[in-house]
Amino acid sequence: MTKTAGALERTGGKGIPRHILMCTSEAAPFAKTGGLADAVPSLSLALAKLGHEVKIAMPRYYGIDRGKLDKLEGAMGVPVGGGEEWTAVYTTVLPGSAKNNPVRVYFFDHEAFFGREGIYGAPFESDFLDNPRRFTFVSKACFQLCRKIDWYPDIVHAHDWPTAMVPVYLKYGEKYGVSSESGSFSETKSVLTIHNLGYQGIYNKDNFFYTNLGWDVFYQSCFDDWNMMNLLKGGIYSADKLNTVSPNYARETLRQEHGFRLDGCLRSRSGDYRGILNGIDNGVWNPALDKYLPAPFSAKDRGGKALAKQALQRLFGLPENAGIPVIGMVTRLTAQKGIGELFGPGYGSAFSICRDMKLQFVFLGSGEPWAEHEILNLASRLPNFRARIGYSEETSHLIEGGADFFLMPSQYEPCGLNQMYSLAYGTVPIVRNTGGLADTVKKYDEKTGEGTGFMFDDLTPSAIYNTVGWAVWAWYNRKNHIEAMSLRGMKQDFSWNKSAREYTRLYEDALDSV
Ligand code: ADP
Repeated sequence: MTKTAGALERTGGKGIPRHILMCTSEAAPFAKTGGLADAVPSLSLALAKLGHEVKIAMPRYYGIDRGKLDKLEGAMGVPVGGGEEWTAVYTTVLPGSAKNNPVRVYFFDHEAFFGREGIYGAPFESDFLDNPRRFTFVSKACFQLCRKIDWYPDIVHAHDWPTAMVPVYLKYGEKYGVSSESGSFSETKSVLTIHNLGYQGIYNKDNFFYTNLGWDVFYQSCFDDWNMMNLLKGGIYSADKLNTVSPNYARETLRQEHGFRLDGCLRSRSGDYRGILNGIDNGVWNPALDKYLPAPFSAKDRGGKALAKQALQRLFGLPENAGIPVIGMVTRLTAQKGIGELFGPGYGSAFSICRDMKLQFVFLGSGEPWAEHEILNLASRLPNFRARIGYSEETSHLIEGGADFFLMPSQYEPCGLNQMYSLAYGTVPIVRNTGGLADTVKKYDEKTGEGTGFMFDDLTPSAIYNTVGWAVWAWYNRKNHIEAMSLRGMKQDFSWNKSAREYTRLYEDALDSV
């Protein structure tokens, strides 16, 4: 699609290849703290496969090697803070791109904002004081980039609070501005994806001056949050369309329990808000191709799974026994993941689960210091509980491949990836009935043997205990059901292709909106 043809083609109906700019603070393999970093590149590649032209804009963090990137000629000015910040722009092709339609990534290189360790913070400063400025700068730079490369997207797609200013800039300025002779943002529409409503970017409202927008915009866009500035809230009120990463989480966030105080804002935009399930990267998370497993396996030939279990038991120093179920867990240690109910000193159920049940439990993760401490404490007291504190791709793949069950007792879960990885690897998930977990796992029915996993409603230590107990009982007494569930999980399709088609529909709806 050419720049000038854009507006014409837009009126021509659905299914037209679009120009899409992904505005993000993270994208693997360049910078990652969570699921957002996996979602943006995977979605971009899947959209490109459908024929869309996709570009990604993000900061050049300190850890991203400039030597491996190409530099665009000339510096780029970004009007913020009452003046102008200057940035160099680097670029490369996203790994995994098809030759005939590559996804290009652009990096904003700004020493004062990004020439430091950490994406949002560092151990000594968990949320950098200048984050509202750093990410306002990135949001504004996305538009300047389009001018610089003379490429005007149909859709600017923002992700989470760091780029939530993008829809605001579009709605209150860029849409009406003169851009260049060859194009403008007048026909561009915005989409904001909420990957986790728990993080909103709430800062002192004095920072708003830095956006170069007037205080009328501050109030019209409802940035105000008890006299603070809530970046995500401004984005929610300004974007043409909104979505989150699973249909069930979209419904849950409209209610107070999961709304993080923005349920009312989302209700007021409910006509423009939907849930689209994330996919998984089945080039990376695929037992038939997984380089971290001792032998490949698939739904047709599951022999390799027994070898993975053996390797897992060996790695964690547990008896190599095929006749005992292994429960696996890989997680960030934060309250969201239900770690209080599982590992809370004196009340969490992990101790009694391991003490009372004939099972092995392997854990990988890091996060809250109290939980790390408690987990190591449990590992020293229980012969069948083993833990590794830290981050390891390799071990996480082996746990997904080798465990019989995977535990996710989340408080809330916008989508959740690990339960989908588990299903793909024939590892039966044990999950709480919440968010994307409820969309992807079907509860086991003891009478018929139907289902793909075990599920509980209340987040309490005893509910976790009882559900793990139920799964272990079924493992010993209904082996045929467990086998059938494992196989059923492996046959499911969690690829990004389906999600990319739903995002295409969301973009078309945005373009149709007035
Ligand atoms: P969230 O994004 O809320 O942390 P998800 O389930 O959506 O939860 O995704 C978490 C991702 O991070 C998964 O790919 C998971 O395997 C990975 N992960 C989390 N902790 C670790 C760890 N300690 N080592 C390796 N991978 C981890």
